[in-house]
Amino acid sequence: MPEERPASPPLGYKLAHPVISHDGTRVGFAGISLGGALPYGFLDEARCVYGRRHRCPALRCDCGFYCLHTFDQALALACASEYHRAVLLEVTVLGSYIRFERGMRYARQRVRVARVGACACGMEPCGFADAGWGRTGWRVLTAVCAQCAALRGRTAFASWTAVGFAEFVRLGGGPLRIVAGGEPEGGP
Ligand SMILES: [Zn+2]
Ligand SMILES: [Zn+2]
Repeated sequence: MPEERPASPPLGYKLAHPVISHDGTRVGFAGISLGGALPYGFLDEARCVYGRRHRCPALRCDCGFYCLHTFDQALALACASEYHRAVLLEVTVLGSYIRFERGMRYARQRVRVARVGACACGMEPCGFADAGWGRTGWRVLTAVCAQCAALRGRTAFASWTAVGFAEFVRLGGGPLRIVAGGEPEGGP
């Protein structure tokens, strides 16, 4: 594959669902399509979704992390109703990558910024609560305001009602900037 040597690692944009482990001790993000079953941490390495023993992104496979080149592309994708409650991540692409027209497929990433939409009631969110679905071992989270978090009551089989954004960042090993309310502050 052609070698590119950028002065600084490329940035990318993607949608994901914030997740918390069943015991509430680990957090991360789950991709919205391929690889969604393998949640990733704030700084993480891609693993082949097919369990093949090669490094991602392998040329004859479609594994690896994916991102789009621009904020606008990710924003357009977020219009799809099934992705409405997803968060928009800004990531640094690390390690080797394959560039294609709309984005990149790559080996490692750091999630730098997570932009979350408003609470379902329209208020500015301050944390994440159980979205009511998940994958084995992981609950998917959705942004909530303090008022709605208090009204929700406990999550099934867990003792918590919501995790504040600061706590989410701490559990994920930080640093991560969470921008609430959906609108990019001063543009992407
Ligand atoms: Zn693979
Ligand atoms: Zn609310």
